[in-house]
Amino acid sequence: MINDRRLSRRGALGLFGALGLTATGLAGCSSSDDTADAATTSTPEPVPTSADDAWAALAAGNERFANGEPRHPHEDRPYRESLVAGQHPIACVLSCADSRVAPELVFDQGLGDLFTVRSAGEVLDDAVLGSIEYAVEHVAVPLVVVLGHAGCGAVAATVDVVRGGPAPDGSIAALVQAIEPAVRGVSAGGDDAAYLAACVEAQARSAAAALADASPIVREAVADGRTSVVAGVYDLASGRVSQL
Ligand SMILES: [Zn+2]
Repeated sequence: MINDRRLSRRGALGLFGALGLTATGLAGCSSSDDTADAATTSTPEPVPTSADDAWAALAAGNERFANGEPRHPHEDRPYRESLVAGQHPIACVLSCADSRVAPELVFDQGLGDLFTVRSAGEVLDDAVLGSIEYAVEHVAVPLVVVLGHAGCGAVAATVDVVRGGPAPDGSIAALVQAIEPAVRGVSAGGDDAAYLAACVEAQARSAAAALADASPIVREAVADGRTSVVAGVYDLASGRVSQL
């Protein structure tokens, strides 16, 4: 039974203790939860402790979002206050910084649910890697999702450069440089939209693979089965996320 493998918010106290945090806020949250509207906010929900369960929770939220039936969970005052004691997010999400790809909205999650890291084109640098390492090592997320998206401007800019266009100004050039190997690995052909979509997928896969290569902390956590890294792509029109 999937619920047997899950941990309730109250059951997560041991983990919070291991992280040196207290559970006072969680205890305070309980009485409020009992009277809250379960369809909106505050109900203590099981916290996934495996990568499969974490992905299932994200997929369910994305389904609600894509269908136009989001719950907008975990935004009310009691829940916010409960999080003062600590965090136990479902997953770490590295997404593009694009304004149309807000992970909490796309996965219909709320405060404390996602450890979100964002950079244009999901480019990895020391700050991004360090943030993800913190999520894996100290927040103990069971899943890291690298989320690319349709119509990514950073990937499109890289396609322009690969096709012979001028390098962009400023530090945007560093983004293009980081994305370029993934784009060069895609066979050009077909229409432009299909090519860009293939490049977007390639960059998300490349960043996910590079996470383990570049980070011994992530690599060891994956090897130990403490976390998993997956790549996904978000479709702007349908609102749906597909795991690659
Ligand atoms: Zn983008």
